[in-house]
Amino acid sequence: MEGTVNKKVKQYMIDTVLNLINQNRIFKKVYGIDFIKKRIEENLNEVITDIPPEINGIGGRYINSNKNIMIFLSGKDNCELTINDIKRKHAIPLLVHELIHAIMRKNDEECKELSDEIYKYYKKRTEVELSTGVVIIYDDGAIGIGLNEGLTNWLCGLLGKNDKNSYKNLTNIVYQVENAIGKNKMMKFSKGRNWKCVQAIKFIM
Ligand SMILES: [Zn+2]
Repeated sequence: MEGTVNKKVKQYMIDTVLNLINQNRIFKKVYGIDFIKKRIEENLNEVITDIPPEINGIGGRYINSNKNIMIFLSGKDNCELTINDIKRKHAIPLLVHELIHAIMRKNDEECKELSDEIYKYYKKRTEVELSTGVVIIYDDGAIGIGLNEGLTNWLCGLLGKNDKNSYKNLTNIVYQVENAIGKNKMMKFSKGRNWKCVQAIKFIM
């Protein structure tokens, strides 16, 4: 595969997010720093940088299947992407966004439980993919990414690192759900087996 396995950027990404969370009272209270560290351990393999955007997209991507984060940015003069490049390109919000995807990735069992819970409330059979909060695949094959990208951005916003240009509408929906159910419940939705907040999905479905 094209790209560089970039250990330095991976470490910088982890340090940045842990620092932000350590300074954030509500994040620490709802998730706990040990939960965050455990999820990073379990859900992040490698960070691959220096992938030309034309290959797979812009910005970054968290890949559920191999647990890698791909960053479509390259270093100066064909060199490996460095921390300085990241600062220069104002890409810290991008790194935070992709790591939040990894942290909030649900396992198979959690996805199945969530899917059952959705059925209980909405009588709609959905397949829930391993991802932040959820990617919901409807019977007709359409993918509801609202809770995935919107929730990720919303969480980044709580950490002061929301990329204001991405998924604007989806993020706004999550802000509206927050108004309806409160910050704590919205946050708990991302954490393991808190399915009470499944009712919030009706805002998005
Ligand atoms: Zn994303």
